[in-house]
Amino acid sequence: MIIDGKKESALLRQEIKNEISLLKKEKNMTPGLSVILIGDFAPSQIYVKNKEKNAKEVGINSEVIRYPKEVKEAEVLKKIEELNNNKNVSGILVQLPLPNQIDKEKVINAINPLKDVDGFNPINVGNLSSGYQAIVPCTPLGCLILIKKVEKNLSGKHAVIIGRSNLNGKPMAQLLLKENCTVTIVHSKTKDLKNECLKADIIVAAVGVPNLVKEDWVKKDSIIIDVGINKIKDKIVGDVYFDALRHKVKAITPVPGGVGPMTIACLLKNTVECFKKLNS
Ligand code: NAP
Repeated sequence: MIIDGKKESALLRQEIKNEISLLKKEKNMTPGLSVILIGDFAPSQIYVKNKEKNAKEVGINSEVIRYPKEVKEAEVLKKIEELNNNKNVSGILVQLPLPNQIDKEKVINAINPLKDVDGFNPINVGNLSSGYQAIVPCTPLGCLILIKKVEKNLSGKHAVIIGRSNLNGKPMAQLLLKENCTVTIVHSKTKDLKNECLKADIIVAAVGVPNLVKEDWVKKDSIIIDVGINKIKDKIVGDVYFDALRHKVKAITPVPGGVGPMTIACLLKNTVECFKKLNS
């Protein structure tokens, strides 16, 4: 089974759209998403454009606040404070990476945890790892939704997560622990990556190394989620050798068209969740 992330994302976005029109009718209010974009880094420009377009399509009031790359940290922090206090804003996202003069940690800490649609604020990170209610980072949340489309009950499954970033690997591990999986996190210093992967019922690869996971690394009936986005010449490939694995495993996400589309849909989902909590 090839997991169709585009289709699942479209379904989720439709659900969100319906929910927003209901909220508009009932409360006469609309969720608002503010994105801060600093500098002219091309991939960030594309991500933000996509986020804005998708937000508008489901009925979220979306604004992009742009700063030149020389902007002072204090000015960004002041804007975040202003957005924290603005009742029309339910979600705040600062597009990463940031220029060197701006301290990422300070910026993430400044966002009201209730409006932290990326789920990067330590309050949300701590809540997630304590098993409490939290805003969950969009990509791992999208991965979990896709995994659960294949297998509803994950209890007792052995999940191997390749990569330990704050963005992907660590929150993914927390989500799967909450689903009662036995979780192994592997990374660049792991001794025998292949052997660890061979134990997995579920593999989530969030590495950034093209075609790292090979056919003889995976069990026959495993579920493979490929987060990686790697450019080889003009082709985008994942961290998993898709063509070799697709006939062996139970389910696998393609790249592109797998996890990527779910990330944006989950950003919209988080914006609506924040709106509901802020207005409950
Ligand atoms: P990251 O911060 O660079 O982390 C990569 C992780 O992979 C690190 O933990 C690193 O180990 C580990 N690693 C690197 N080389 C390895 C190897 N040869 N064997 C085992 N582990 C290795 O990356 P990230 O931000 O998590 O992103 C990972 C990938 O996902 C990238 O390709 C990125 O473009 C993609 N991505 C996709 C989406 C989406 O929506 N689909 C969203 C975000 C990111 P150490 O910790 O030991 O260095």
